[in-house]
Amino acid sequence: MSNISAFLIFGAPGSGKGTVGAKLANVTMGIKHLSTGDIFRGLSPASENGKLFASYANAGKLVPDEVTIQIFSRYVGGLIDTNKFDPAKQAFLLDGIPRTVEQAKLIKNTVNVKHIFVLEISDHSVIIERLLKRAAIEGRKDDIHESVVRARIDEYETKTAAVLSLYDSSIITKINGAQTPDEVFRDVLDAYIKFNTKS
Ligand code: ADP
Repeated sequence: MSNISAFLIFGAPGSGKGTVGAKLANVTMGIKHLSTGDIFRGLSPASENGKLFASYANAGKLVPDEVTIQIFSRYVGGLIDTNKFDPAKQAFLLDGIPRTVEQAKLIKNTVNVKHIFVLEISDHSVIIERLLKRAAIEGRKDDIHESVVRARIDEYETKTAAVLSLYDSSIITKINGAQTPDEVFRDVLDAYIKFNTKS
């Protein structure tokens, strides 16, 4: 994996990272949205990595760091090799990685972090309600049981939120994720434009 530029989007499960990430990538030039959850869900369920993913995700747990980085790096390498991502002209909007301090360290030498958007929702009941609703529409196994959703929120709060302290606060924008999707998009776009006009 060669040197790549990236924006990061952080937020608890159900905070709207995927929704706003796809929208931002749609309206900006040169940004490609990449969700590690989507990459994992795209693994063949019969493959070793697919089985490993299911065993962790269905319990609301994070996949171990080393294999996560290995799958991510291989996927990004494939995008570059097949002309689907050009590191010289494009940047990623990474949704779901790095999710631990160790992952942040492992990607530090290859991923140049330009800016970080954090979708904040302090009220867990808002998150749980959103995910149970999504379970009914998308049928994601890790959304169905409230205990699994709670385990994911716990992983976010104990492991992922700590990753933010590794980055300079001047590159972090916090956004109220409890707003409507349009309002969240407006705030993310606003932060992105401010970042872009500054540099
Ligand atoms: P959510 O943000 O709603 O939890 P994601 O689609 O981002 O959903 O992730 C789904 C699952 O995929 C996680 O619970 C975890 O098991 C796995 N996963 C995704 N990204 C990572 C990562 N960077 N490190 C470890 N596990 C990950």
